[in-house]
Amino acid sequence: MVQASVGVYPKVPHGIGLINRDQAQRGSKKPLSLNCHAGTTTLVLAASSQGLDKVSEDSQAFFAERALGSLHFKAIVMENLHHIVVVGGGAGGLELVTRLGNKLGKKHKARISLVDAGLTHVWKPLLHEVASGSLDASANEINYRAHARKHHYEFQLGRMSGLDRSAKEIVIAAFHDDEGNEVVPERRIRYDTLVIAVGSTANDFGTPGAQEHCLFLDSLRQARRFHNLMLNAFLRKNHEALQGKPHSLNISIIGAGATGVELAAELRLASRELPVYGMNHLKSSDVSISVIEAADRILPALPGRLSAAATRELQRQKVQVLTGQPVSEVRENSLVMKDGTELPSEMTIWAAGIKAPGFLADLDGLEANRGNQLMVEQTLKTTRDDHIFAFGDCAACPQPDSDRPVPPRAQAAHQQADTLFETLCNRLEGKEAVPFVYNDHGSLINFSKYTTVGNLMGNLSGRSMYIEGKVARLFYVSLYRMHQVALHGFVRTGVIWLMDKISRAMHPRLKLH
Ligand SMILES: Cc1cc2nc3c(=O)[nH]c(=O)nc-3n(C[C@H](O)[C@H](O)[C@H](O)COP(=O)(O)OP(=O)(O)OC[C@H]3O[C@@H](n4cnc5c(N)ncnc54)[C@H](O)[C@@H]3O)c2cc1C
Repeated sequence: MVQASVGVYPKVPHGIGLINRDQAQRGSKKPLSLNCHAGTTTLVLAASSQGLDKVSEDSQAFFAERALGSLHFKAIVMENLHHIVVVGGGAGGLELVTRLGNKLGKKHKARISLVDAGLTHVWKPLLHEVASGSLDASANEINYRAHARKHHYEFQLGRMSGLDRSAKEIVIAAFHDDEGNEVVPERRIRYDTLVIAVGSTANDFGTPGAQEHCLFLDSLRQARRFHNLMLNAFLRKNHEALQGKPHSLNISIIGAGATGVELAAELRLASRELPVYGMNHLKSSDVSISVIEAADRILPALPGRLSAAATRELQRQKVQVLTGQPVSEVRENSLVMKDGTELPSEMTIWAAGIKAPGFLADLDGLEANRGNQLMVEQTLKTTRDDHIFAFGDCAACPQPDSDRPVPPRAQAAHQQADTLFETLCNRLEGKEAVPFVYNDHGSLINFSKYTTVGNLMGNLSGRSMYIEGKVARLFYVSLYRMHQVALHGFVRTGVIWLMDKISRAMHPRLKLH
């Protein structure tokens, strides 16, 4: 029970807001709204000398925050609300907290918190463009704190490392600065409902040398690191060319899924554009780009026609495509294939396969698969805990008509965020969870500014339609715009789109630092 007193006090009691007696009698600070759903919160206002004994009863805390205007009081009230904690503010998690904040947080129907290991959000499918320099990440970065304030949720910086299901608490690892000094010690956050959306990282399948010698594209930090290393490599090779020394640069991408294929096209564009900005001794043909795939065709998860079109496009862009070639070891400046052949490679990027973060594998008894994904039911509720949900790349969600789980894609995370939003709103009202049904709208592969190819799924016929060129590019871009609409609304997304256009017209096509 939360109590507040109205009266004349020498000073405001700790944690309690104060209406002075005159205001209460004049009614100048009346309840502005009584529609609070904090069923557990009772607010009693007792005027010590003027007979205002009991102003409100159950579910009236909302008025107190407005009338008393006290931050302390707000904190007390918020603590008594149902607390939904979402861990991971990525493609799915950030959309979910934004909608929950706008609907439930704003009206104080629930307390919404987001926990993320980073301070800013960048939509992950853009990372290969950040790596190549064709996209300036800072223009597409969202600061969680600012976004939280605008959309009525709380943000906590930290990396989840454990879970105490009996206490309903998540464990956040101690936070250290770049010098290794502890900034915040390990802490715990209590939840009523927990949603885990921590995404995935590349899976190197234990390949020897991969961790030491490969670059990965799992985070903005890694994408920026790649970009810097690439620029330095170009600079070094340009200098060697100037001195008449051998100066070829070999870049290998292991894994020819969508990420690997799109990255290859972005890198080819970078190698073509750099001379325009002054590195005129290094030619694009000096930069050899190879995509290496263990399966017998690239884009093995997509239809054969798409794979064939993508192969043709890569070859047209002078990207070497090696299929049926599992990599057995990565060395500092080379790759060893399963058949023993060694390929020179000064820069190697690992883009084959994904796995969920390791801490999920043993998370206080929750069920996980071999790829560390949490096992969830059709409703996205974890199989062993009614208070914990998981979605996006870190969850294995069954599909009714398939023996394969929902694929780890941005479009799936986006759809799951929508379903979970409905489920969590229902949950507060004691209603049923909504089952998730994945609607595959097709796949699109973008070859930088050159072209886009893809298949669109016909919702009624179930057949896919092959598209390419400008139409395909339009659909490709719309996936990101949908994400922006979910985060900012239509009007702001329109403004951002306009600003992007202006920025592209004013700045170099490639980010050069
Ligand atoms: C280069 C690249 C290109 C891609 N292109 C496409 C594409 O074109 N189309 C498509 O559909 N999909 C694409 N994908 C896949 C897509 O990005 C993912 O499927 C999607 O981002 C998954 O969303 P998510 O919310 O599950 O996780 P993510 O978007 O990965 O977000 C996870 C969040 O959790 C946070 N986090 C991680 N661990 C912790 C922790 N322990 N504690 C707190 N926070 C944590 C991270 O900081 C991050 O913010 C691409 C992926 C990559 C890497």
